[in-house]
Amino acid sequence: SQTTPQEVIDLIREQEIRMVDLRFIDMLGAWQHFTVPAHELSEEAFAEGFGFDGSSVRGWKTINASDMLVMPDATTAKVDPFMQVPTLVLLGNAVETITRADYERCPRSLAARAEDYLRSTGIADTFYVGPEAEFFIFDDVRYRSDKQTSFYAVDSDLGHWNTDREEFPNLGYKVRAKGGYVPVPPTDSLQDLRTDMVLALEDLGIVVERQHMEVATGGQAEIDIRYDSLLSQADKLAWFKYVIKNVARQAGKTVTFMPKPLYGDNGNGMHTHMSLWKDGQPLFAGEQYAGLSQMALHFIAGVLRHAPALCAFTNASTNSYKRLVPGFEAPVNLAYSSRNRSAAIRIPTYSSSPKAIRIEFRTPDPACNPYLAFSALLMAGLDGVQKRLDPGEPLDKDIYSLSPEELAGVPSVPASLDGALEALEEDHEFLLQGNVFSRDLLEAWVDWKRDNEVTEVRGRPHPHEFALYFDT
Ligand code: GLU
Ligand code: MG
Ligand code: MG
Repeated sequence: SQTTPQEVIDLIREQEIRMVDLRFIDMLGAWQHFTVPAHELSEEAFAEGFGFDGSSVRGWKTINASDMLVMPDATTAKVDPFMQVPTLVLLGNAVETITRADYERCPRSLAARAEDYLRSTGIADTFYVGPEAEFFIFDDVRYRSDKQTSFYAVDSDLGHWNTDREEFPNLGYKVRAKGGYVPVPPTDSLQDLRTDMVLALEDLGIVVERQHMEVATGGQAEIDIRYDSLLSQADKLAWFKYVIKNVARQAGKTVTFMPKPLYGDNGNGMHTHMSLWKDGQPLFAGEQYAGLSQMALHFIAGVLRHAPALCAFTNASTNSYKRLVPGFEAPVNLAYSSRNRSAAIRIPTYSSSPKAIRIEFRTPDPACNPYLAFSALLMAGLDGVQKRLDPGEPLDKDIYSLSPEELAGVPSVPASLDGALEALEEDHEFLLQGNVFSRDLLEAWVDWKRDNEVTEVRGRPHPHEFALYFDT
């Protein structure tokens, strides 16, 4: 459904909207916004854009060239469910003043270029993406005046942030270690909250397929939204995080999508299901392994070949690599297999309908910028299709239980963000095809991640170093 600027203006009048909130996604994947009274949004304003200071946005402009514009996209209009005054939200792309060119570091226009590039190859016209973003729901400690709890006094080894564990008096029905999948209430104490999240998403037109508890000791949740095409799905994920966090906040809870908040327990993954379609027909179903087409196998080979570099976008935090360890359903080895949850790429076997045939890349986590991560995945898969790459044999074994000898020759994900950034520096030509990614963006990304994340984390004494070394 394409909405025109005039239709948005009509909607504002009909629904008595008072404010228009203009949102753009920054390089790291967070929404930023500013708000104008509804009378400021005219058809001319859609064409002219709204100015802002690009030098105050992380990783973007320098102070001497800071003027930028947000160009609102009329097709993205939604009424905000949380603001007290009726407010319409419009997502926009960042563009340069004067030339009005796409800003090279704007993730949203990059995702649109990735879709254009896909069509230009003739291979397919649509890249469907289905992300399963997991998250933890913790008590918002400000509401716990009865206890001396703070984020800094928490024993993350034991998962003591968890609602269930902190209940007084103790009514029993605790989630056992790794027992979060999937007991009914009262053990599942967050059912109603997750349902409130689902309803808020559906009211915004984001179709949900399922919600459930997840495996970690307690408080871990998953809400799966229906597959959609790349840019539209990335927009939905931005709404997804916003809705989940705000519904939790209203209930006195807080949510984190960070990949590994608790030591010794499962982390938050964002398994990403992918398929290519053309003229309404699925292209990944066929007569090869696990009901896949030859094109799907080439796509898998492209993703596996470029996976270390892809991790710089799909697993883009230092914390991401604390999740990618054996034993927690997160992948370590770059292999593919049907049904296998220890492989980086799993081919789900729930349905044999050609429309349902897809591949699940299990490596990504929800701390990524989905515009960049999905675009990079598409570019890697397309490279595999264009070069007819061979993914080798599937690995239909529990990879966690294989001996080092058996694992010899099976490549692994990088061990750290630093390793992923190095891989990206060595392997990025596939991202530059069709000018989807630019060298400027890649350099800005690597510099930002290295200077502000890798170096800053590495430079700080770690709490566990005190346990190891304080008494040396
Ligand atoms: N939480 C696991 C991960 O880190 C995934 C669990 C699942 O299979 O859904 O990827
Ligand atoms: Mg899951
Ligand atoms: Mg999954």
